[in-house]
Amino acid sequence: MALIAVAQSRRTADYLEAIRRAGGEPIEISASIEGSMDVLARADGLVLTGGGDVDPAIYGEERHSTFEAAEPGRDEFEIALVRAAMNRDLPCLAICRGMQVMNVALGGSLVQDIPDQVPGAVNHAVREPRYAIAHEVWVSPDSRTFELLSEHIEDGEVCQVNSRHHQAVKRAADGFEVTATSPDGVIEAMEHTASSFCVAVQWHPENFWRTGEFRTLFEGLVRAAKSRSA
Ligand code: MN
Repeated sequence: MALIAVAQSRRTADYLEAIRRAGGEPIEISASIEGSMDVLARADGLVLTGGGDVDPAIYGEERHSTFEAAEPGRDEFEIALVRAAMNRDLPCLAICRGMQVMNVALGGSLVQDIPDQVPGAVNHAVREPRYAIAHEVWVSPDSRTFELLSEHIEDGEVCQVNSRHHQAVKRAADGFEVTATSPDGVIEAMEHTASSFCVAVQWHPENFWRTGEFRTLFEGLVRAAKSRSA
């Protein structure tokens, strides 16, 4: 069984179920759960989850007026998770805020508010229902992201996704390849090409666990985690 550490968020249930449905065994970790770094040390994979904004001071910017902090201690804890995971080449799936944390932890920066900073942006904040399709993304062929999503891609490159974010990756950290963008140019997925499995998406695949549209993302993580633990 592949043990998948999950960075705790206010709403972790869908992530846990999506991992179980993909054959993994999830376990929540956070700055306030004792022994979390020990759990990470014996985990076979990591999922970074959604949540509030990363403090822009970490990437050297002033706070935009829309800034909404994550839970106290979460930025520091999750940055430590990213660095530990990269050092061990731990298979990692980063989702929404998780993608943003990963990018900042490794030296990238963020668009702090899409409606304010991306002219002509599509609506990236469709809150309910959580699995409502909000916009399409264009996925790069020849990427791991494409391979994972292949059964869900139409017209050679188009994938329909949900969207609940007002921030996004601006400058991708070194070593990452952008693998999906929305029609307004917002970065919606990236992957660390030198890692055995390190994929980040800006949408919320975990909200589809009932219908399985994005199960292949979690299955990819679990497969990489299992081959590591074997
Ligand atoms: Mn979006």
